[in-house]
Amino acid sequence: MSFIDEARILKVLEKTKEPDVKLAESVINKAKERKGLNLEEVGVLINLKDPRLLKEMFDTAAKIKEEIYGERLVFFAPLYVSDFCVNDCAYCNFHQTNKSLKRSKLTLEQVREQVKILINMGHKRVLLEFGEDQKENPIDYVVDVINEIYKVKTEKGSIRRVNVNIAATTVENYKKIKATNIGTYQLFQETYHRPTYEKLHKGPKGDYDRQLTAQDRALEAGIDDRGLGVLFGLYDWKFEVLGLIAHAEHLDKVGGVGPHTISVPRLCEAPTVKYIPEHPVSDEDFLKIIAILRLAVPYTGMIISTRETPEIRRKAFKIGISQTSAASVTSTGGYGKKMDSVQFTSHDPRSLEEVIKDALKDKLLPSFCTACYRLGRTGEDFMYLSKPGEIHKFCRTNGLLTFAEYLEDFASEELKKEGYNVIRYYMDKIDEPELLQRAKEGLANIRQGKRDIYY
Ligand code: SAM
Ligand code: SF4
Repeated sequence: MSFIDEARILKVLEKTKEPDVKLAESVINKAKERKGLNLEEVGVLINLKDPRLLKEMFDTAAKIKEEIYGERLVFFAPLYVSDFCVNDCAYCNFHQTNKSLKRSKLTLEQVREQVKILINMGHKRVLLEFGEDQKENPIDYVVDVINEIYKVKTEKGSIRRVNVNIAATTVENYKKIKATNIGTYQLFQETYHRPTYEKLHKGPKGDYDRQLTAQDRALEAGIDDRGLGVLFGLYDWKFEVLGLIAHAEHLDKVGGVGPHTISVPRLCEAPTVKYIPEHPVSDEDFLKIIAILRLAVPYTGMIISTRETPEIRRKAFKIGISQTSAASVTSTGGYGKKMDSVQFTSHDPRSLEEVIKDALKDKLLPSFCTACYRLGRTGEDFMYLSKPGEIHKFCRTNGLLTFAEYLEDFASEELKKEGYNVIRYYMDKIDEPELLQRAKEGLANIRQGKRDIYY
């Protein structure tokens, strides 16, 4: 029996259809303890309609976000390496039957060029994107690209963490990727609903079970830092949220550690794609999804991309999102030039500086921190660290220091002023004298030109 049990999910949705007020209150109260929620409890939240309880749920999500992740918002950028793909996913411009797309993949020289552009924008983390094609994008090519990225060093620094989004593959291949020292391995199930999955995917990715069990193979290969996701719009979001929770429970049960991140991509229009989503997710429901996930898996980071508008992103940051992309390009080799060959259309065209400026208005602290993974704090160790109290010891200081680096190396004078105001604001909140001393010394060193200080 698969850990995604369709009948069970439908039963939970049916049973919780009209949640009792007392029960709903008790679920929200349990969530406040930050111990996570089970499938039935999540079902109750999914079916909430009472405006008072919905408000309580959103407020609780914001509070949990604040307690566990604090004010930090971690930035990254996607890097499209190859759009060669043998699959035919109904929603994606890279689908195999798209003959109008002039396919390309980056040479290692081009990888270096793209990475230098990203470094000069201020990025320290990238998420690699590849189409699936054994011939054009064999695993050794993926490995070479990752190694090349880590080798690029410029006056303005380097990429310190490479996360990877490649198609489901074998344990052997995952071992090769693990050996390159990746951060998170991300793979989206797209939809947990088997019939919908099988209808929308052709090619090797059309195998639902191959996709579903990929994270288990990744773990077998030693990758304990794993990211899940659903492409919202393909099927009923209520079903998908329960699918995500069941998958997270499975990872925890089998590997002793839940997903490091959950991404919440929502379907966007894409050139040559005629597919019309049968289950479009409204803005209101989209924010509900984020809040519910924040209550259900409090220690799992949540990622939002530039698929969303600035307005939605701003709201999402408050109620649960801890990581975000900015200034993203979704075409192969598309940084530094204008290209039509996008995978889909983004909805946030702002530069990194503009996104940061807006985040500062909401007193968020932009962070480029990569300390945990570089110090081996992943999997279970990371989960331990992210317990309240512990996290502030390292994360706030690391966040402040990496943001100061950004301000020194990339920001305009105006942003620098605003940025240091926010840095001072959070320095004042460090109440342990030893930590404060460490942060002060770190900041002074960064101002004098020292870089990459972390704890
Ligand atoms: N090709 C690999 C795969 O499909 O797993 C790697 C990642 S693909 C480049 C990244 C993700 O983009 C997919 O998993 C899918 O969820 C998302 N995506 C594809 N088309 C999209 C669209 N039209 N709107 C929003 N997201 C889309
Ligand atoms: Fe290929 Fe991924 Fe696009 Fe599907 S979503 S067509 S696998 S690139």
